[in-house]
Amino acid sequence: MLEVLSLFEKIKYHSGGWKLEAAGIVRGTDVISARFVGAGGRRAEIRLRRAGRWEPGAGTEFFELQIAGPEEARGAGERLLEAVRAALAEAEAGPDFPAGVFSGLLAPEVPQVDIWITSKCNQKCVICDIPAGWELVPGSPEAVRKEIAEKYRRGARGIKFAGRECTLEKEFAGYIEFCKRTGYETVQVMTNAVALENRRLAAKLKSAGLDRAVVSLHGHEAGTADSITGVPGDFNRTLRGIENIMAAGILLELNFVICEGNYRSFPEYVRFVKERFGGAARRLMVSSVVPAYRALENYGGVVPRLTDIMPFVEEGLAYCREEKVPAYVPDLCGFPACFAPGFVEMFEAVRRQRFAEVVEMKTKPEGCAACRAVSYCDGHWAEYFRIYGDSEFAGRRF
Ligand code: SF4
Repeated sequence: MLEVLSLFEKIKYHSGGWKLEAAGIVRGTDVISARFVGAGGRRAEIRLRRAGRWEPGAGTEFFELQIAGPEEARGAGERLLEAVRAALAEAEAGPDFPAGVFSGLLAPEVPQVDIWITSKCNQKCVICDIPAGWELVPGSPEAVRKEIAEKYRRGARGIKFAGRECTLEKEFAGYIEFCKRTGYETVQVMTNAVALENRRLAAKLKSAGLDRAVVSLHGHEAGTADSITGVPGDFNRTLRGIENIMAAGILLELNFVICEGNYRSFPEYVRFVKERFGGAARRLMVSSVVPAYRALENYGGVVPRLTDIMPFVEEGLAYCREEKVPAYVPDLCGFPACFAPGFVEMFEAVRRQRFAEVVEMKTKPEGCAACRAVSYCDGHWAEYFRIYGDSEFAGRRF
């Protein structure tokens, strides 16, 4: 099957040597961004924005092409823009280009966006990546509602209330209701579930329209989990919150961030998840530490080497496969599939074969050029390479 990489290979052919540097969906939008490096290190960014046209029956979506970025990039990128046009035309005409590949790329489920609404949090996680005064948090309830409506107007049909801890906001149920009134099909929240040990709050959020809770649970026993969240007793509070989430009928997803404090116990953790929650845990996200805010300050101390982690992760993933625990590694906040080549079907990036978001914080070693995942794998955190180098990646591919 002709994948998106092949499209960009065509662009390279047409453009006289521009090389794809990074590509992905720009966070919170339906725009595909592709950054290229040309001769002499010139850089240009091409953006493909859905033009809002849809041809019934043809399975084809149309895109406006733009050169984004500074003036010099626009000048340097003119030929590249022509190359994208030629590649798209060729792709649409070609027999091996599956109809609707772009719609698959952009909307594998309903188009999703994240929203940040609060600076409050009741934990002090050593791996926290969202600062209290984050600029993406709107300043007032009116601004939150405006942003919810604007994201919907731009095409989002699923919305996730992301960290810090949204359940502490007294307006939270109202925001969920507003999302549903606006027309969102799915509403999710990332939470530590501590506040949801209050059963009435869980029921209230469900009545407001909350569909799914993605609960951070970083250990299978109090000693491990509480040492990461920094609040003694919260492991048991989170478990009570999870019970209330399940009782209210909110779908449950768990998030396990692998770090120094918990990686050795990952095999016990997945057994615990199976025994404690059974089929109620619809998904188990296995993430890496995002190097921002407190997690960045602590990075060398809380992030082990991938090669140290992997024996434990592979043992746990093997159990998940055997026992049908729906574990997966997310495309942006996960780790590269070449470190667990026996489990690639659990990697979101591999399953979707789609671009990850364009993030400056991630990069790939040069050897990745030989990997067949190079077009949709976004590599690993630049901070990781700064601390550990890239020797662990030598010879890896799948
Ligand atoms: S070798 Fe590179 S491109 Fe391939 S999976 Fe690993 S990090 Fe990704």
